[in-house]
Amino acid sequence: MKLLDGKICAASLVADISKKVAGYVGSGLRKPHMTVILVGEHAPSESYVKSKIKSCESAGFESSLLRFPESITEPDLLAKIAGINGDPSTDGLIVQLPLPKHIDPQNIINAIDPEKDIDGFHPTNFGRMTLGQKAFRPATAYGICKLLQFYEIPVKGKHCVVIGRSNIVGKPISIMLSNDFEIGNATVTLAHIETPRQLLLDETRRADIIVVAVGIPGFITEDMVKEGVVMIDVGINRLENGRIVGDVDFERVAPKCSWITPVPGGVGRMTVAALIVNTLMAYQNNFDLA
Ligand code: NAP
Repeated sequence: MKLLDGKICAASLVADISKKVAGYVGSGLRKPHMTVILVGEHAPSESYVKSKIKSCESAGFESSLLRFPESITEPDLLAKIAGINGDPSTDGLIVQLPLPKHIDPQNIINAIDPEKDIDGFHPTNFGRMTLGQKAFRPATAYGICKLLQFYEIPVKGKHCVVIGRSNIVGKPISIMLSNDFEIGNATVTLAHIETPRQLLLDETRRADIIVVAVGIPGFITEDMVKEGVVMIDVGINRLENGRIVGDVDFERVAPKCSWITPVPGGVGRMTVAALIVNTLMAYQNNFDLA
C-alpha cells in the first residue's frame, strides 16, 4: 500500500505556480489575487480559509479575506459580491460555505461572476465542465484528478465507483472521471443513499478506483473492496475525541489498497491546491496569458 500524499502533491503544484507567478510579476504584471468571503463564525470554515490564505502566500498570490457578521442579509451579501465581480483587481472569488440558514447558498453561488468562480460551483462552469469545455472545475474533484495525475495512477478504461452525489464532490468527480479529459475516460458508477446495499457491495467489490464522499466515519470497510483498489477518501469527520477521520476504516482497508489517501493530508490539501490552479487560470484569462 502506498499513500497518495496530498501534502507532497499540493506543495509541488503550488511551487510550480509560484515560479510562473514570479515570471509574470518580473515582467511588470500585478500578482494573481484571490478574495475569500467568510460569513459568521464557524470553526472548520476558519481553518479552511486559513489554509487557502496560506497557500496564496506560498504561490506568490495576493489574498483578501472579507469577514461579515452572521446577521448579514442575503441582499447585502449579494451587493458585496456584485462589488467584487466589478473589481478588476480580484481574479478569483470564493464564498466560504456553509452560510447562515437565512441565506440561500444557490443564490450566492449564482451571483458570482463565472469568470471569477474559482470554486467551479456556478451553473455556467458546471455546465461547461459537464460538456467537456474549458471551465473552472469544482475544486475538490479537480484536486482529486490532479492527485491521480501526479502519482500516475491509470484512470482510462478503469472501473470507478463514486459514493455520494453532492454538487460539490460526488456529482462533479463522477462526471470528470467519465469525461474525455486528460484524467478521465473511466467507466463510472455513481452510488448514493438510495443505492441498495447489495448493489453497492457488488460495485465496490469490483471497483478499480473508489471515491467516497458521504461524511460517515468508517463507511468503507475491508469486506467492501478488492485487493489492489485505489481508494480516494474525501470525507472529513471530526470524532468526539477531536480526531479527524475520513469515510474509510483506514487501519483495516489500507492493507488491501494499492494506493490510498490519508485523512488528513489527502484530498483536503488538494482542494486548496486546485483553488490555486483555478485562480492562476482566472488571472491568465484576465491578462491573455497562455
Ligand atoms: P453531502 O452534501 O452531505 O453529501 C453526501 C452524499 O453522500 C449525499 O449524496 C448522500 O446521498 C450520500 N450518502 C449519505 N449516506 C449514504 C449511504 N449510506 N450510502 C450511500 N450514499 C450515502 O456531503 P459532501 O459535501 O459531498 O461531503 C462529503 C464528505 O466529504 C464530508 O465528510 C465532507 O466534510 C467532506 N468534504 C471534504 C472535502 C475535502 O476537501 N476533502 C471537500 C468537501 C467535502 P443523498 O444525496 O441521497 O443525500
